[in-house]
Amino acid sequence: MAVKSEPTRILILGGGYVGLYTALGLQKKLRANEASVTIVDPQPHMTYQPFLPEAAAGSIEPRHVVVPLRRVLRRCHVLTARVNKVEHERKTVTVEAADGHIEQLGYDVLVVALGSVPRLLPIPGLAEQGIGIKTVGEAIYLRNHVLTKLDEASSTLDPDLRKRLLTFTVVGGGFAGIEALAELEDMTRFATRYYSNIEPEDVRWVLVEAAGRILPEVRDTLGVWTVEQLEKRGIEVYLSTAAKSFENGHVVLSDGTEFDSDTIIWTAGVKANPVVAGSDLPTDKRGRLEATAALNVVGHSDVWTAGDVAAVPDLSRTEDDPTATCPPNAQHAVRQARHLSKNIIASLRGGKPTDYYHKNLGAVAGLGLHKGVADAMKMKIKGFPAWLFHRAYHVHAMPTFNRKVRILLDWALGGLFRRETISLGQINNPKEEFTRASKS
Ligand SMILES: Cc1cc2nc3c(=O)[nH]c(=O)nc-3n(C[C@H](O)[C@H](O)[C@H](O)COP(=O)(O)OP(=O)(O)OC[C@H]3O[C@@H](n4cnc5c(N)ncnc54)[C@H](O)[C@@H]3O)c2cc1C
Repeated sequence: MAVKSEPTRILILGGGYVGLYTALGLQKKLRANEASVTIVDPQPHMTYQPFLPEAAAGSIEPRHVVVPLRRVLRRCHVLTARVNKVEHERKTVTVEAADGHIEQLGYDVLVVALGSVPRLLPIPGLAEQGIGIKTVGEAIYLRNHVLTKLDEASSTLDPDLRKRLLTFTVVGGGFAGIEALAELEDMTRFATRYYSNIEPEDVRWVLVEAAGRILPEVRDTLGVWTVEQLEKRGIEVYLSTAAKSFENGHVVLSDGTEFDSDTIIWTAGVKANPVVAGSDLPTDKRGRLEATAALNVVGHSDVWTAGDVAAVPDLSRTEDDPTATCPPNAQHAVRQARHLSKNIIASLRGGKPTDYYHKNLGAVAGLGLHKGVADAMKMKIKGFPAWLFHRAYHVHAMPTFNRKVRILLDWALGGLFRRETISLGQINNPKEEFTRASKS
């Protein structure tokens, strides 16, 4: 009698764009008992990062920009844990589970979808003062932090402190930085109407960018136009300028400019998740996993990768530049993940994986309520139409019908009742009142 073989164990590391879409593709197409799928992430949800600036600015409820993994991956095993080590030679991944215990997981097929982490520079004070915007927790924190600064500024009697509290600095002029800056500046300007002693002109937003332009994803002219729009709103833009120090909230720039700022938002780029550099899988000089165009890790037909953590050849550009790799963005991550799940299924069934090919469609960014910029389908789009395009594109791209509807309702409510500007700063220290009561 033939012995029934065990289902192939597929282990997915990371439940972001790539992890979620790969798992969705697999659970849809796998036959019963063909394979088991386990997905590991320290968070129980996927985060739709392009909506984080709007979540921080109060246009979208933060819970609606995340997709609960357990709810949508009903045929997969979801493990809330952090990957510490990948040893492919032993086909073992070491994880730290949510309760703190360490566990080793075995696999037959591995998908590395660990994304990226902020790229920090050795700038004095950055680690202590900087705030990122890559997680939903950071978006919630930023929103409460910025609004709390308005509350503090409205009550202080010290003019220097007031100036410092009302100075907000963003470092990095890529998409994440510009969207965060534009959305939060919009929010603070709107919120000042509720403070009798703070005028919109009292609030100072500063952008610092080391390159000579912002938004490298769009054409030069659109980058220049965006700087003009930001400056018209009173935002100070420092191009070709590096941040030198943030010690104790005192900002020093390479052109000699100095000022105090209680808020430093750091969005100056990302690098591949360092877990892969510590593994026995091949990485390039930027610390990304070396991938083939079929999304295998080079030299390993049983290991797959995609997204920000991987150096995937960009076949739409390799004719001109043989070293071209896909940029780290959601446009590629989603498409690579869908392709990846098809390739895994093909390999399991004895087929041949195919190469990933995608020609960049362009880019679109929101610049606050009713404002945007887009460079897509060979068109340059500015202002209100670009903002509409931004919203339409992202609600279309947001995973699950449930989340799309919730976000549309958030926007409709915002249109009806205007944006919510209440600070829930207590969230950052929720036990304070209880502890105070216990001492009285
Ligand atoms: C503010 C912001 C705005 C953006 N806007 C756009 C945009 O408009 N358009 C666009 O195309 N792209 C945009 N991006 C980029 C886009 O979000 C990323 O390129 C995309 O998320 C990459 O997908 P990924 O699956 O590789 O990584 P991620 O989506 O980041 O997923 C990585 C996952 O790995 C998990 N993880 C991390 N470490 C571990 C560990 N040790 N163990 C287990 N799991 C781990 C994380 O929790 C996460 O869930 C934006 C990014 C940000 C931050």
